[in-house]
Amino acid sequence: MQTPGTLHVVATPIGNLGDLSPRALETLRTVDAICAEDTRHTRQLLSHFGVERPLLALHQHNEDAQASQLVARLQAGESLALVSDAGTPLVSDPGFRLVGAARAAGLRVSPVPGACAAIAALSVAGVASDRFVFEGFLPARGGARRERLVLLAAEPRTLIFYESAHRISESLADLAAAFGGSRRAVLARELTKLFETVLDDTLDGLRATVEADPNQRKGEFVLVVEGAGDDADAKLQEGLRLYAKLAEHLPPSTAAKLAAELSGAPRKALYGAG
Ligand code: SAM
Repeated sequence: MQTPGTLHVVATPIGNLGDLSPRALETLRTVDAICAEDTRHTRQLLSHFGVERPLLALHQHNEDAQASQLVARLQAGESLALVSDAGTPLVSDPGFRLVGAARAAGLRVSPVPGACAAIAALSVAGVASDRFVFEGFLPARGGARRERLVLLAAEPRTLIFYESAHRISESLADLAAAFGGSRRAVLARELTKLFETVLDDTLDGLRATVEADPNQRKGEFVLVVEGAGDDADAKLQEGLRLYAKLAEHLPPSTAAKLAAELSGAPRKALYGAG
């Protein structure tokens, strides 16, 4: 039996079923019901482990509506688990509205930690890991993606992105254009699965490998990109400070040009800021 009125946020494997922890299994076996992103997908996982608990669908299209009903069930004393299709719920997956609603209602929300593709990739990348930013998926549309990357080009911390098979080539090309092709990056593909591959190269090098070999475009990807370094951060901060002052008296394009020249920060990262 689980503590009544508790929402257990349970991580599930990102490929290798051996990564479901004993505590995750025990929790899934003993809750009153399991909220799942895709009930058919989770049913397969549960039947592999011989777990038979009721499943409730909770995905991005019904989460707002479902959250209040689920909170009512928790308030009535039920214990519920929240899982997503793979890895840690809420990490580029549904769940934050339900967790927020449960917290707002004063209910206990308890994690059962486990696999997360971003952290698994970082743990094998060998790129500075003391400070990092998780960017999730880049925008799907090319223009929006390139705009986002301009803003991230001077980020000094290690950057972690999720990417899918059908956009990996385009994203690597846009990253190389925005960050410079010589920036170091690690591409982690199909982690914990049969075709697990971790490539450590420059952005240009990764792009060439992925373009030359169709097998390297298959599966699921995490891209870990080295940060621009503190020097770039200092330049950007100085550039933004100058731009804010100059834009009070000059047209934005002139202010950005001057601030970029004086600080060494990229003009595009300054234009329109603030
Ligand atoms: N909640 C999940 C987690 O904790 O990692 C992530 C869910 S997100 C919808 C799915 C994305 O995670 C994939 O497109 C891919 O970028 C990444 N991913 C998931 N499993 C992976 C794996 N085994 N190897 C590499 N990347 C993976």
